[in-house]
Amino acid sequence: MSKSAKYIFVTGGVVSALGKGISAASIGLLLQRRGLKVCNVKFDPYLNVDPGTMNPYQHGEVYVLDDGAETDLDLGHYERFLDQSLSKDNNVTTGQVYNTIITRERRGDYLGATVQVIPHVTEEIKSRLKKLVRGDEPPDVIIAEIGGTVGDIESQPYLEAIRQMGQEEGPENTMFIHVTLVPFINTAGEYKTKPTQHSVRALREIGIQPNMLLCRSVQRITDALRQKISLFCSVPTSSVIAAEDKPTIYHVPINFHEQHVDDIICQHFGWDLPQPDISDWQTMVEKINNPKRRIKIAICGKYVMLKDAYKSIIESFVHAGVHNDAEVNLIWVSSEDIKQSGAEKFLHDCDGLLIPGGFGERGVAGKIESIRYVRENNIPFFGLCLGMQCAVIEYARNVCGLTDAHSYEFYHELKHPVIHLMADQEGVTELGGTMRLGAYPCVLTEGCKAHQAYGCDRISERHRHRYELNNAYRQILTERDLVLSGMSPDNHLVEIVEIKNHPWFVGVQFHPELKSRPTRPHPLFREFVRAAVEYNEGRKKDKVPEITHS
Ligand code: GLN
Repeated sequence: MSKSAKYIFVTGGVVSALGKGISAASIGLLLQRRGLKVCNVKFDPYLNVDPGTMNPYQHGEVYVLDDGAETDLDLGHYERFLDQSLSKDNNVTTGQVYNTIITRERRGDYLGATVQVIPHVTEEIKSRLKKLVRGDEPPDVIIAEIGGTVGDIESQPYLEAIRQMGQEEGPENTMFIHVTLVPFINTAGEYKTKPTQHSVRALREIGIQPNMLLCRSVQRITDALRQKISLFCSVPTSSVIAAEDKPTIYHVPINFHEQHVDDIICQHFGWDLPQPDISDWQTMVEKINNPKRRIKIAICGKYVMLKDAYKSIIESFVHAGVHNDAEVNLIWVSSEDIKQSGAEKFLHDCDGLLIPGGFGERGVAGKIESIRYVRENNIPFFGLCLGMQCAVIEYARNVCGLTDAHSYEFYHELKHPVIHLMADQEGVTELGGTMRLGAYPCVLTEGCKAHQAYGCDRISERHRHRYELNNAYRQILTERDLVLSGMSPDNHLVEIVEIKNHPWFVGVQFHPELKSRPTRPHPLFREFVRAAVEYNEGRKKDKVPEITHS
């Protein structure tokens, strides 16, 4: 095999949200399973330095890496599909590229030259790509996904940069894969190829001829349609791949493999590699499609309308569900609705409640009320970050009698700030990248639910927050049976809380959803779902009328 790295560029056409990230991750998985060292990278054409400052309504979830980088949610797909931990170098934004260039310009590094999009921006993009190939064990293949859609003004420098890469590295080292849409037009009763033809034409106008097309459609397109697309787009029919919607995203790599996507890529690069073993993924998909039981978990949050804001949580439930042979039906409950109509109405038939992370006071009252309901009714509870903080507030108010307990995040003049600003956050004024971010160690208390779930004494989990449990309240909380079951190694920060006499009530200051993997569900999600299954079975038993003897 040749030593130089190969590059696969994944672009998108026609519309956004076609699943470029899942396509890039699926290709990565197949190549990894053929024995290659794969590196996925995402280029985002916006001017924010990272998505950390963006509203989840606009951008979806912010995916935090071990090194503390706040990244695009596609990095979540890469980590989950390839079971890898990535770093800040795996997500490049236009904001970062310009930041670097402007800093250099101010230093005088350009020696009087006019700094321009071409060549300076394109060179910086290429250098960030090439940087990924350095190191002791460089990857065999870089899979670079270009955010946005071909034709967008913002993505032009990226497309020009990858076009140049194709020229400089040669066709034997580069491959262009275009994800496109083949829409079904109801009134005509047909699939239409024209948008794909236009999208490929737009690519060719800027000098990129795709080597493969991934045709997204609702149902699988016919071979005749693939031949037509092949003819008009100058792509061999075998490389026009039918990428129809699947009930689960974990079916996508299997679908690609069945259509020889990985064989075609290996052939293109001259790799002679064994077939990939994806039997574990096949088993997983079978289990997802044929669950033995169903449970209902309520998620009470602020952004319940936009599922992308909770992407990793949703996937974590799929992984934990597979492990427990259960389909987890997520019931999205707006915290505002709970505040208005009470928790019982929404939660009486749920088998568990999860409160996700979040910022700002809107919806907090509803979250606290829903936590009270599940705590009092012995329904399994899992609180993540803000969810844990709300659980502590609820406990302080309703069990410890501190009626006006609240978080310093929402009110500064508080009698009982049971959640307060972390010491190292004092004086921080800038918003971008200044939270407690990334992986930190945590020591678990023996005998607790968390310790049982992880099966070890020390863990590492990813964080993204500014506030924490106020240590001044540790005593009163623990005296009333709140258990501090995970602490920072110096014992200064409470990372996990539990309630003693409750079937499963766990709140964590970190984001476990960022570390769940398809075939390695996160221990806490796994055990939460197990507890919910048990609760569900108990509930069903309760419904059976008792046999009375006369
Ligand atoms: N807003 C809370 C904090 O900053 C929780 C953050 C979160 O849920 N990610 O501490």
